[in-house]
Amino acid sequence: MRFVIIHLPPNLPARWIKIYPVRVAAVSALVTQEDRSKYLKKHGRWGLLKKWLSNASGHKCWYCEAKSNRAPFDVDHFRPKLGITVDSVKLDGHTGYYWLAYEWSNFRLSCQRCNRPEKDELATLHGKANEFPLQNESSRCNAAAGSITIETPRFLDPCVEADCALLAHTIDGEVKPAAAVGTWEYQRACYTIERLGFNEWNTPETKRGNWQTLATLLAVVGNNANQAVIDELNKHISYNHEYSSFFRAAIGTHRDKAWIEKLL
Ligand SMILES: [Zn+2]
Repeated sequence: MRFVIIHLPPNLPARWIKIYPVRVAAVSALVTQEDRSKYLKKHGRWGLLKKWLSNASGHKCWYCEAKSNRAPFDVDHFRPKLGITVDSVKLDGHTGYYWLAYEWSNFRLSCQRCNRPEKDELATLHGKANEFPLQNESSRCNAAAGSITIETPRFLDPCVEADCALLAHTIDGEVKPAAAVGTWEYQRACYTIERLGFNEWNTPETKRGNWQTLATLLAVVGNNANQAVIDELNKHISYNHEYSSFFRAAIGTHRDKAWIEKLL
């Protein structure tokens, strides 16, 4: 997970700017959950923002940094728009954050692995879907007039720089918590890693395989890197590169070489 910065004003696509106030007004005027559900299903159109969201992250999933070249990205609503689950159990008494359904700041570009519910071979459920637990359920915002700023989500948020710093990487390609065991920050990282399946679906193996090539290169050049090697490493740690957070951490294990230290 790499911090996704949206510069303000956000320069949203003209078409979106035209339709979203109408949609917000319409969905807010509906009274029943059934009507809201029907409306949101009929008037999704989140796809209009996919290109804009993709440009913001260098065309990577905002959660796991995968490029997802062979499957379309989803537009995840960080705060679910139509009902919430906590540890896979439906949260009674909350209809979802429908008033944020068209709010760009609630959107996170997500690969299908991170967003859609799917069980692995051990029957563990992954995928964010409608999950949105809080540290303190009593702070849950129930209406548009309330404030989401008092909520403390358990999911790490790629739009919060401090959240991204709570994940660390091993050179084996696994994501792990950066905070001390037992802390809330540790719990958040564990939950996010597990729920979004960061270490599932052969992802660590993919990262490890790519790192091996770079590690061999580093072993060959030692302290005498030429420009081509420096360019290759720079490519892997650049913002747009798939799993660049991992490569930065892996390359960081070679900080004993002055030229690497300079690079990072
Ligand atoms: Zn993902």
